[in-house]
Amino acid sequence: MKMESEVLRAPQDDAVARWRADFPLLRESVHGKPLVYLDNAATTHKPQAVIEAEAAFYRHDNSNVHRGVHALSQRATDRYEAAREKVRQFINAASVQEIVFVRGTTEAINLVAQSYARVRLGPDDNVVISAMEHHSNIVPWQMACAQTGAELRVVPINDAGELDLDMVERLIGPGTKLVAVTHLSNALGTIAPVKRIIEIAHAHHVPVLLDGAQAIAHLGVDVRALDADFYAFSGHKIYGPTGIGVLYGKAVLLEAMPPYQVGGDMIRSVTFGQTEYNELPYKFEAGTPNIAGAIALGEALDYVAALGLDAIAAHEHALLEYATAQAGAISGLKIVGTARDKASILSFTLDGVHPHDIGTILDHDGVAIRAGHHCAMPVMQRFGIAGTARASFALYNTRAEVDALVAALARVQEMFQ
Ligand code: PLP
Repeated sequence: MKMESEVLRAPQDDAVARWRADFPLLRESVHGKPLVYLDNAATTHKPQAVIEAEAAFYRHDNSNVHRGVHALSQRATDRYEAAREKVRQFINAASVQEIVFVRGTTEAINLVAQSYARVRLGPDDNVVISAMEHHSNIVPWQMACAQTGAELRVVPINDAGELDLDMVERLIGPGTKLVAVTHLSNALGTIAPVKRIIEIAHAHHVPVLLDGAQAIAHLGVDVRALDADFYAFSGHKIYGPTGIGVLYGKAVLLEAMPPYQVGGDMIRSVTFGQTEYNELPYKFEAGTPNIAGAIALGEALDYVAALGLDAIAAHEHALLEYATAQAGAISGLKIVGTARDKASILSFTLDGVHPHDIGTILDHDGVAIRAGHHCAMPVMQRFGIAGTARASFALYNTRAEVDALVAALARVQEMFQ
């Protein structure tokens, strides 16, 4: 948990009410009740500016990028490349060459697993991940290891859901080709000590990939300050559209990697005998990209930057503390994930009630949460449970919504007594 001073910097209710008004979907009701949307770790809603940016592209600028000599194609290309520059600034990458547009976090990790890891791994090698990864940061490494005979090593977590840093040190060895860890756990809310992990890995000359699917919307991400080698995130978790995401990679690493997919746009010249690949980042962007999605993602990043990530984080943290205290007071409710450093996610079980029943009953009250394993089955196995109920907060959530969650949980408990 953060310091009291950070909570004090949280914006006041009227500022949050103004933010909230930017999101048309939040005016919907479900089952005749006002929507209380607490499933933001799954996906966030989109502000009007983002919806408008995507529509405006199709209305005014729609054309393919990097292909036509005509004005519209140039306009589309300019807007697409301007979005890349916005991403560069948002995560403080050194160059737009290091910003690859992909479908999302999952595709970004698969790209690195196949184009970076697979070609370097052999039977004496290994990849180090952690016990609190999303399946998207497990299965691609499992596959690369199966393809090459390499070993997948897993850094354990303690009962609070914190990574064991000593084990990071012990598991990295001469055969370690990559460390891949989440920046912020979607199942537990733990913020991983990624700066320290990167220092340890780099001392062994091992690069690090950070899964930033959750972190991007809640923690300021500065890839150069972190010295991250790869950073993956999805647009839809930071108020942008689905189907667009980013792989950041240090240019020196991306240069040395073969393309992940091949076809149009990623080439410089093609004969039937030989193909010369395009320069970065286009080498990794085969085929027509999600142009409107990239532009709308750029708009989403502008939106977040204008509000200020510090203010958003302080607000979300105050909400998490409030929710932790309120929900924690419900008898039989156990919080899963009690790390000292947490953000935005409250995962819990309720004695004698299946998480899916919690989710279903809450839904009838208009409260949308997630129930199940959250694509992190090994986390559930670690805690000996089938799943949790998970409330996850975004910039537009309010204390009144936390109260609605807690009231609905009290009703669940009454029903099952
Ligand atoms: N990693 C984490 C930590 C996530 O929370 C998610 C999505 O929930 C992903 C990866 C996968 O993201 P996407 O489905 O957008 O590729």
